[in-house]
Amino acid sequence: MIPPVANRFVAGEELDEALDHVADVNDRDVGGILNLLGEHYHERAPADEDADAYLRLIDGIAERSLEASVSVKPSQIGIDLPTNAFAENLEQIVTHAKSHDVFVWVDMEDHTTTDTTLDAVCNQAQRYPHGVGLAIQANLKRTREDLERLAEVPAGVRLVKGAYDEPESVAYQEKAVVDEMYEEYLEFLFREFDQGVAVGSHDPAMLSHAKSLHDTYGTPFEIQMLMGVREDAQYDLAEEYDVYQYAPYGPKWLQYFYRRIRERKKNALFALRAVLGI
Ligand code: FAD
Repeated sequence: MIPPVANRFVAGEELDEALDHVADVNDRDVGGILNLLGEHYHERAPADEDADAYLRLIDGIAERSLEASVSVKPSQIGIDLPTNAFAENLEQIVTHAKSHDVFVWVDMEDHTTTDTTLDAVCNQAQRYPHGVGLAIQANLKRTREDLERLAEVPAGVRLVKGAYDEPESVAYQEKAVVDEMYEEYLEFLFREFDQGVAVGSHDPAMLSHAKSLHDTYGTPFEIQMLMGVREDAQYDLAEEYDVYQYAPYGPKWLQYFYRRIRERKKNALFALRAVLGI
């Protein structure tokens, strides 16, 4: 069982717990985006195992008629392997998702994986138009070109600021510049995209920019935030907008939990208070 502090950020170790969590947020008009925790496999067996787990996850979402999509990390289904594992596993997941009418998001990892991820998602979008989407990172200098390419593809885009420490040669380093680029790319998406825009941010400034772009262009969009982060805002926003909560689950939760705690002082204080019982 996930201990009390971590269960703010992780939906459970087991599939059923994750599905129960999504049912709960669905009751409050928030959709779920389920991610089985796992990354950087260097052997085929665990990559295939996680791909199979996504098939069972899709079955569970469909059986319980949940408002939920899945989100897959490329390195958990084989992008680090010198074989076709990634493309084959993604195709299998997308085929299964299509037959159950479930949307598949693909997370974006560090810049060395961007080309392969982009190519694979563009291929899958031809097989399942409007059924797949990928995260695009505003901190990468290449992003404008990637968005221009994606404007021609029936795939959704989740715009995020970027979570990986990238070298200066490929990525903007200053937060203010990343924020500026995020706003600029959001405008591009609202102007050019009718195939699904997702605003993957907790930042009130980015969310208010998205709302005003929606008023200007009328483009449909959804807001995506992480489980355990600004949850009250998620429920408030859901009264007016489509909101989805990215909820990770699975036995490999510890590393993810540490990342959430490290990234923000307030989260660390919350964890400390819970441990001390104050
Ligand atoms: P920040 O720039 O970190 O913060 C801006 C403001 O937002 C803060 O000042 C505060 O007001 C508010 N805020 C931010 N965090 C908190 C918090 N914990 N509690 C309270 N307020 C807060 N990155 C990738 O590289 N690849 C991915 O595939 C990917 N997928 C993602 C999917 C989702 C649904 C989300 C929400 C993020 C994803 N990310 C991904 C992470 C993303 O790149 C950012 O690292 C992360 O979202 C932090 O940026 P931010 O825009 O939320 O706000």
